[in-house]
Formats: sequence, structure tokens, C-alpha cells
Amino acid sequence: MTDGTNLRPAREDFRWESVEVLTYKAEADAGFMAITRQVLLKDAGLACELRYFEMAAGGYSSLERHLHVHGVMILRGSGHVLIGDSVRKMGPRDLVTIPPNTWHQFRATEGEPFGFLCMVNCERDRPQLPTPAEITELRKTPAIAAFLDGRPLTP
Ligand code: MN
Repeated sequence: MTDGTNLRPAREDFRWESVEVLTYKAEADAGFMAITRQVLLKDAGLACELRYFEMAAGGYSSLERHLHVHGVMILRGSGHVLIGDSVRKMGPRDLVTIPPNTWHQFRATEGEPFGFLCMVNCERDRPQLPTPAEITELRKTPAIAAFLDGRPLTP
């Protein structure tokens, strides 16, 4: 920044000065819908990036897995999260680590925007999306099937 501090003040509505809001179109086939991404911090000296993702009510992130790890803090609203074979409700300031090679997805199930900070290594592998056979396998767990249909069983 011009004053050399790299300070970027927060703006209204979970935005930050000089941070571009990247909006995905609603593309259910690609596995994500109604979600935005902002890269808040990205610095080779940190070796990691801090991003903010936000889903509109009913939106969701891609269902994916990869070898890199996510460190997540919920920042806005409540929603449900699939991690491995577990579906849990998460709310503001809850923390979770998503381990390597573990299916995960975030869903704004509570009729409100759902936003989270996500820390990742700068160097990371590309996410894998599930095959139809893998989705069939995931759906054998009733809680996961309900989650994927946008009506989680857990309150
Ligand atoms: Mn991921």
C-alpha cells in the first residue's frame, strides 16, 4: 500500500479495501453455487494464503478433497459442514482443520449468508471432485445424503 503498512481496512458487509470479490455463477454441475471468494492475505514470506469464502443462503462450496490441509474459522452466519463421514453445524468463530484427502463441503443451510476464513499453503495440489460412483458411496451414509440434498438431519 502507499503508506507501506499493507493495512487494508475492513469495509461493510465482509469486504476489505483493495480486495477483489470473485463471484462464481450458479453452476451446480461444477459443484459450487452462489459463493464468492476474496484473497485477503497472500505473501511468499507467510507461505500461506488467507481467503474468505461466502455463500448466499442455500449456496454451497464444491465437494472436493485434496492432499493439502485447510484451517477454517467461520466468520459469518451458521451452516453445515461435511468433513469425511461427519456432518456438523458450525457458527461464528468455530474452528476446524480439514485433514488431507478428506471429502469436504460447506453449505449455507440456515437461510442466511454463511462465510468462513480458510488458510491454505501457497503451494498445494488441485482439488479432486467425486466421481458418480464416489457420490453413490457417500450417499450410503444417511446424514451425508441429507446434507447433499440441502436438508441436514442435525439441527
Ligand atoms: Mn478444499
